[in-house]
Amino acid sequence: MIARVTLEISVGKEFDYLVPEALEGDVRIGSRVRIPLGKRRVMGVVTGLPREASVSALREIEGVVGRTNQITARVLDLARWMAGYYCCPVEAALKCVLPDAVRKEREKWRKRLHVKVLAEPDPFPSLTPRQREIWEWMRKRSDVPMQRILRHLSTTADTVRKLEKLGLVQVIHEIHERDPYAEETILPSGKLDLNPGQKEALDRILAACESGESRVFLLHGVTGSGKTEVYLQAIDHCLSRGRGAIVLVPEISLTPQTVERFKARFGTGANQTLVAVLHSHLSAGERHDEWHKIREGRARIAIGARSAVFAPVDPLGLILVDEEHEHSYKQEDTPRYHARDLSVMRASKEGAVVVLGSATPSMESYHHARSGKYTLLSLAKRADAKTLPIVRIVDMRTEARGEKGIPILSRKLKDAIHKRLREREQVMLFLNRRGYASSLQCPLCGHVQGCPNCSISLTFHRSENRLLCHICGHREGSPDRCPNPECRSREIRLAGIGTQRVEEILIKLFSKARIRRMDSDTLRRKEDYRIYLNEFRTGKTDILLGTQMIAKGLHFPNVTLVGIVYADVSLHIPDFRAGERTFQLLTQVAGRAGRGDVEGEVIVQAFTPFHPAIQHARKHDYAGFYQQEIEFREEFSYPPACRLCVLTLRGKDEQQTSRLAEQLHSEIESKLADFSDLTISGPAPAVLLKAETYFRYQILLRTNRMGALGRRLAPLVRGFKLPEGLRIVIDVDPANL
Ligand code: ADP
Ligand code: ZN
Ligand code: ZN
Repeated sequence: MIARVTLEISVGKEFDYLVPEALEGDVRIGSRVRIPLGKRRVMGVVTGLPREASVSALREIEGVVGRTNQITARVLDLARWMAGYYCCPVEAALKCVLPDAVRKEREKWRKRLHVKVLAEPDPFPSLTPRQREIWEWMRKRSDVPMQRILRHLSTTADTVRKLEKLGLVQVIHEIHERDPYAEETILPSGKLDLNPGQKEALDRILAACESGESRVFLLHGVTGSGKTEVYLQAIDHCLSRGRGAIVLVPEISLTPQTVERFKARFGTGANQTLVAVLHSHLSAGERHDEWHKIREGRARIAIGARSAVFAPVDPLGLILVDEEHEHSYKQEDTPRYHARDLSVMRASKEGAVVVLGSATPSMESYHHARSGKYTLLSLAKRADAKTLPIVRIVDMRTEARGEKGIPILSRKLKDAIHKRLREREQVMLFLNRRGYASSLQCPLCGHVQGCPNCSISLTFHRSENRLLCHICGHREGSPDRCPNPECRSREIRLAGIGTQRVEEILIKLFSKARIRRMDSDTLRRKEDYRIYLNEFRTGKTDILLGTQMIAKGLHFPNVTLVGIVYADVSLHIPDFRAGERTFQLLTQVAGRAGRGDVEGEVIVQAFTPFHPAIQHARKHDYAGFYQQEIEFREEFSYPPACRLCVLTLRGKDEQQTSRLAEQLHSEIESKLADFSDLTISGPAPAVLLKAETYFRYQILLRTNRMGALGRRLAPLVRGFKLPEGLRIVIDVDPANL
């Protein structure tokens, strides 16, 4: 028997090994094996069992690690596809398919001592009063973790062991599963009666599930339209047909609130293990246990952020991708996969159904829905019969007139906050920029204090009284004079606003209100996110101010006013998706208002109030936005009108990096001259030319046949000779430019 093995170290090659007879029963596709390589011993994954070996002198596999067959053959197949499409080595793909916690041999099941009460012996032994007390307590419970006995009765393990000697109890080792949600009390929830829109959507999804062929649905439903209820009932059906489901949610909305909705329907009481959760906030041990629950089939529903697309659910019936437009589904290091797109690929390989849900679908998905590749399902109304909030746009250019400078909060927004606070309602304010001021500028010579490592201005943080780089973390003191030696003016001042500055103003204006700022500066411990949101939910905070982390998926019935302090921030990002992002962000943020009984209101402050992204968001008009945006994408050849691939060359020496980018460009041009629909642009400096001391030059490739391009491109790039210290990054279907 021969096994083809991909090593877990980077060598970019697969090797064949002989399977010793004793291991033949254990080695399967997906098994992890220990193998010799030169003088070393390394780990690998069996990716094939070929009939004939590629070379004649084979070495032997030394052992199988962990349980047999750890990666399912199907997930392995997906990983190999991913490596090809995203132009990355198979070993890199395998690494991200199997979580560290599962791969590392030291992460094990946690064993725990349990004490079981035995049948009373006859004759009953004589006990000391203390022993009797302990035994009486245990008898009522029959099976108790040792830890609990020790804690509860302030006794020692020795005492319990004495009871064991007397034949009253038995102490045993038992696997104890770490349950990250053990502390939550989750009440079971029942099915809701679907409204006609939901029912139609569900019926069509179920029909596809029944047919057994892979289909992709785009469920476009405004915030609060009841998409989650459709997901829940679709999963229910899927389970009843003996198949499992994967639910992908953006990392940021993996809040206890979201997880709870799935656990409440499927994972309470006897079904406690049915729902497994995979995400980065779990401890390694918890991740290990959750993963194995899925692998062993005890959990049939896996919820998680993007890497949960690899969850070993088998057989798989359904993949749900909530907030499918979210950029966090795209991984920003190798392998640079997009979990939404991988879901579609995985489902097609496994005959599963995919539901992509969003209030603001990505241009790509909506485009596929229009072309018939995906099936569009729409939920036009809110399920709770609440109306969508009224959105008012404040033109900040007119606000600026007459007053000295531009106010940070317009009259309209200030009045609205006052009014809501008087009514004892809650307010959310949103500004997608942390820090106090976005830059330190000299009005005389125009000097802007920039980061020495990155081509970006430094942000001033008042709490530390320092300038900070948001890319590389560089920090420095704030100068009191212009650093330009020819100027040295004392006029140097802060420009642009950040959340700290808004907080300062709120404290001044609304001195009685309880204000909480939430951005990555105020969240110091991992539980802060949850604590702050809980304070807000329970009414201990009146005004919640924050960056995009407060924009998503949260449900606060008492919030009646949402203010967007500066809507244009995201419009100025130099990326062809700036308009799309702004539209999504405004729509998401607006969806936070009026989820309770009082009608909601949204006030958007903007300097470009007539920008289509802002206007369409105001009217809650997705189709209008799409129509306008697709024309722009078509005219300038951006996705979804074509596919993109960005090659980035990075190096410390700008000249050298740019020169090599030119060379790479010519090489692609000549070697891919026959690739019919390829357009090559660049090389051009990246939008952020310098980041973390590296200069970056980019080449942009456009095609409609990305799979075919990737197959040609990967070997070409691999064969391109690079001097020490330079790197090429290939990003297929980039989320950012
Ligand atoms: P979405 O996921 O589209 O944002 P949710 O599923 O969170 O929407 O639904 C919004 C609210 O409407 C929730 O409180 C939910 O319980 C309620 N809801 C959903 N479907 C129904 C229904 N068929 N009948 C009554 N209430 C519903
Ligand atoms: Zn100056
Ligand atoms: Zn920097």
